[in-house]
Amino acid sequence: MPLSAHPSPRPSVPGEIPAPYREPEPGSRSDDDALQPRTHRKGGYPPLPDPLPVPVIDNHTHFDIHGAIHGAAPEVPIGRALDTAAAAGVAGAVQVGTDLASSRFTAAVVDQDPRLLGAVALHPNEAPLLAEAGLLDDALAEIEALAAGDRVRALGETGLDYFRTGDAGRGSQLESFRSHIDIARRLGKALQIHDRDAHDDVVATLLADGAPDRVVLHCFSGGADLARRCNEQGWYMSFAGTVTFKNAANLREALLVADPALVLVETDAPFLTPHPHRGRPNASYVMPTTVRAMAEVLGTPLETLCTRLTLNTEAVYGRWD
Ligand SMILES: [Zn+2]
Repeated sequence: MPLSAHPSPRPSVPGEIPAPYREPEPGSRSDDDALQPRTHRKGGYPPLPDPLPVPVIDNHTHFDIHGAIHGAAPEVPIGRALDTAAAAGVAGAVQVGTDLASSRFTAAVVDQDPRLLGAVALHPNEAPLLAEAGLLDDALAEIEALAAGDRVRALGETGLDYFRTGDAGRGSQLESFRSHIDIARRLGKALQIHDRDAHDDVVATLLADGAPDRVVLHCFSGGADLARRCNEQGWYMSFAGTVTFKNAANLREALLVADPALVLVETDAPFLTPHPHRGRPNASYVMPTTVRAMAEVLGTPLETLCTRLTLNTEAVYGRWD
């Protein structure tokens, strides 16, 4: 059965937590309840925002992790998650792999629902673990094979993470990043970069090796300076819920500096839930909260921004249909 064929229990209503994401009523025992995630974090999932006037696409999300980090039970079926996202004006998503298991999942699932495209990679914190076990080369070969699929449109998320990986792992992290750059160039795919506390080395590596035609800094975490460097190079900046955080003035400055033709939006769900829902789990249907905050920062009409974001997203990944 195609994943999108899961029947929705009832339509999603703005202002309420959508049914697939809700905890079961105490004592109720319908078949649906077996699919409900048990979210132990305060308040559970955020309410459904008012739908966006023009559909946008979540260009970075993890359906395979969704639910699992919240203590939970089986995740919300992807078809239902995408139905709920559509009710909020989020028409599709890029499902992103971080290791071999999630990359295999990604390569398979993108052929089952037309609202999904995929990205496959070994996360920068995964690469040193594989290298230590002597498995990095084989894993990279499998990533390349998975990346060849027509609906896998990017290598990602790859990059450098100096926050979680210490000095000992940095050599293999860099080796893995460079291999992903090479694969993306040879296969003509986009590159989705995870950059945590490593702006200078990410930029230097891309410039030294030669960046693929389409580069996305996922969950853009730099300030105005990095945004200017991206503008010069034609690299895309994907803003996540972090752009709404009170202590993230640098991200809003970057958004104002960024070439509007290079701006993307994402959830990185189930992580990085936007203000005012921080602390709750994230999902693609929550993304309008981030888009509205971006429109406000930019002083751009919401409709104009949504149209722009969708055009930019399709320029990177191609069309979904
Ligand atoms: Zn991610």
